[in-house]
Formats: sequence, C-alpha cells, structure tokens
Amino acid sequence: MSIIDMTIKETIDLLRRRETSSRELTELALERIRQENSRINAFITVCADVALSQAEAADKRLGTEDRISPLCGIPMGIKDNLCTRGVRTTCASKMLEQFIPPYDATAVERLLSSGSVLLGKLNMDEFGMGSSSENSIFGSVRNPWDTERVAGGSSGGSAAAVASGLCSFALGSDTGGSIRQPASFCGVVGLKPTYGLVSRYGMAAFASSMDQIGPITRDVTDCALVLNGIAGHDPRDSTTVRGIGEDYSHGLEQDELQIRVGLPKEYFGSGLDEDVKNAVYKAVSMLEEAGAVLGESSLPTTDYAVEAHFIISSSEASSNLARYDGIRYGYQNANAKNLEELYRLSRGDGFGSGVKRRILLGTHILSAGYRDQLYIKALRARKMITDDFMKNFESFDLIATPVYPETAFRLGEKSGNPLEMYLGDIYTVGANLAGLPALVVPCGLDRKGLPIGIQLVGKPFSEKLLLRAGYAIEQRVGRLKPKTKCQG
Ligand code: GLN
Repeated sequence: MSIIDMTIKETIDLLRRRETSSRELTELALERIRQENSRINAFITVCADVALSQAEAADKRLGTEDRISPLCGIPMGIKDNLCTRGVRTTCASKMLEQFIPPYDATAVERLLSSGSVLLGKLNMDEFGMGSSSENSIFGSVRNPWDTERVAGGSSGGSAAAVASGLCSFALGSDTGGSIRQPASFCGVVGLKPTYGLVSRYGMAAFASSMDQIGPITRDVTDCALVLNGIAGHDPRDSTTVRGIGEDYSHGLEQDELQIRVGLPKEYFGSGLDEDVKNAVYKAVSMLEEAGAVLGESSLPTTDYAVEAHFIISSSEASSNLARYDGIRYGYQNANAKNLEELYRLSRGDGFGSGVKRRILLGTHILSAGYRDQLYIKALRARKMITDDFMKNFESFDLIATPVYPETAFRLGEKSGNPLEMYLGDIYTVGANLAGLPALVVPCGLDRKGLPIGIQLVGKPFSEKLLLRAGYAIEQRVGRLKPKTKCQG
C-alpha cells in the first residue's frame, strides 16, 4: 500500500519518525492526481506550487517543533465552495468560474495553520445543490468503485478523492446530506457536525440555517482528528458556540458502549433497498455486541422532512444567491444595455438550471400570498421534526438509520428527474432541519459490490459519542475493499 492510501493516524507516525516527509507525501498525492483525476474528475483546481511550498514549511515544523498538530504535513482537498485565499473557488458554477478569494474560510485557515497541505479544490454540485455531483460546469464526478456511477453529492469530489487516494482527507459541506450521502456512496467516513460547532465563515452560503462544514476521511479516528482541527467558536460566525473544546479523538477505543440505540421505524420502510437495509441492521447488531441496547423508535413527522427542507433551503438560497448580481461578484454578461438586462443576462448565463430552479422556487415561496401557505408552514414542520428527534433522545442516546435508499446510482439515471433526486434525501435532511450531528461510517457492500454506509444521529454536541459508536462498527466491519474492477 502506498503511504498516500494510509490513514492520517498511520501517516503521522511515519512523519514523526522521519520515515517520510510531507514533501514526499505531497508529491505522491500530486502524482496520483495526475494519473487518476481524468478518470474520477474529483479535483477542479490543483495548486501544486502552493502545496509543495506548504509541504516544505510543514517539514520544517515537523523537524523543529515539539507540540505539533497531528494534521501537520498531511495533504488535503477542499470542497470548492470554501474560500481559499489566492486559489480559485468556483462553487462548480460559471458564475464564479474566475473567482479568486482574498481570504480563507475559517475551517480552511485553521487547517492551514495546523500545517495541513492544500492540494486543490474539489468538484461538487453547483452551489451545493444536488445529490450526484453531476451538476457541475466541470463535468460529473465519477465513483471510484464504479466509474459508470455517481459519487453522490453535493460533496462528491471530496468523497471520491478520499476514496481513491487523491488526498488524505477532505472537507465537504452538508445542508441536507451532502457530506453523508457521498461518503456512503464512496465507502468513506463523513460527519455533519452539530449546527454551530464549525464556523461557516468563508463558505458560499446555500441555506444558512442548515449549512455545516465537516470532514470526509478514511476512518473514524481521522474524522475525529480533522474535527479537532476545525471545530470551535469563531467571532466571524455568530452562530458558532463557545467552550466545547473537546478532544474528539480521545477515548474512541473504549469498546464498552453503554448506550441505547433507537431504530426509527419510518426509516426502514418501503423504498429502502434490501441490501442497504440488511447491511445497516448488521452494523446495528455490532453496536449491540459492543454493549448497546437496541429499541424501535419512531419519527412520525418523517413524511414532511423532504418538503420542509426544500421549501426552507430554496427560500434561503433565493436570498443568499441574490448577491451574485453580475456586479459585485463573478460572471458579468458583456452585452447588457441597462441595469436590468445586466442582472438578467448575467444571472441567466451564470447559473445552471438546477440553481435557477431553486432560486425561482424560493422567490415564489417567499412572495406575498404564498409565504404563509408555504414558508411559515415549513417552519412549523421543522419545529415538529426537531421535537420528534428530541423526544427520541429522551429514550435513546443515538439513532441509527440508512443514509440513502440505495447505493450509488448510474450517471444520468436521475438527472432528468429532480423530484426523484430530492426524495432520496429523506434520511439525511432531518439532521439539518434539527441542527443535529450525524456520522456516516461504511458498513458493508451490496450485491453489486458497492459500498453502504450507516448513519448515526445524536443530540446536539454528541459528536464524541457518535464517533465512539462509529469506531466500534468500523472495528468490526474492517476496511472495505472493492470486490470487482476498480480502485481503493
Ligand atoms: N441533496 C440536497 C439538495 O440537493 C442537499 C444538498 C446539500 O446538503 N448541500 O439540496
């Protein structure tokens, strides 16, 4: 196995013993990207010069500093909706195709100051809208397990890059499942943190009340290490909380899980693929083996979750994306004869059809006469959904569910049917509506040899417990390897 395929934890030991260097790791990653990216299409931008100079700086720190972050010298990829100073940040949109941010997102800034090395920016659905990473002006991301299939979305580039060894870890963002679903499709670990745990400063906003940045990694320990690197209060994002300051990597190995795990019956009903259902049940029985007590639970408002999510997220998107007016940011149509035409032509050309659909939907929802019928009602549903989850947490420490009704689907299979695509988000949107942490851990393969993940959802700020439970599953499942062709 190449060192670029190792976990962060394994790599740290080699770096500390000076058996490899960040420069060597970075060169290997860049070489792998040169070989594989045309097949996977995970990276939009590769910043080799930036990476190599950061790697050299990291090697100096590794040679001189004692108390050094475990992320020092580790090569990473960043979803292309997180600002990186001096490195193009496109949101996979024509609107921002040439945008070079003058600042770093807080999460990125923290990783860079830990000494992580920025290899480049990862492909995604335009502005985070989608579940397949097919809505990108840079072309679709392909699943490394089967390149005829999608990698999931919207953080498909992040999950595919980690799964195929193009980087050691990645950051994604999750507004309705965009970290978790691609992690599940690509057989890697993904965490959507509690709303407010990680600063959103410098993330191109989609739906501000639900957006969260989180890690995509090869295993649970790495997920904890990256979360340590990005979590915490930020004066530039007033929704971040103070005083959590936990070491998420500490105590993961304690295998005695004295916890109660709920299985919401609405999440295991019709529409769920048999292989996915069986793999999730099997993973749950592993929790039981580690000491957990299982019970059936109920989330009766599940039926409203997708509608509420799309109404609220589209409303927020219509407002957030109003800033792309062809003047202050991004693409400007050169043929406009007056101000109105400038808006119309710039936004008309600059946004893809999926983004325009949401802006139109959101604008309609918020307009006089519809606001009460749609937006306010969705907010009420959101409150009921949140109450449902919190009620579950009176009897259970966490809830275990599938991530998506099926494994990775074929490229093009759903792109003509946005409604079907939206409905697939049924198991993931609840955590965003309620602001809860949700971890995805690989738990098996289906008959086609494609990876399946299990989702663990907990109370606000229970990331540590989720990671411990995820670790217990991971120890029993072992590392997933492709059965057929392909790559790991
Ligand atoms: N798939 C969902 C959507 O299309 C969620 C996307 C996300 O989490 N960014 O809106």
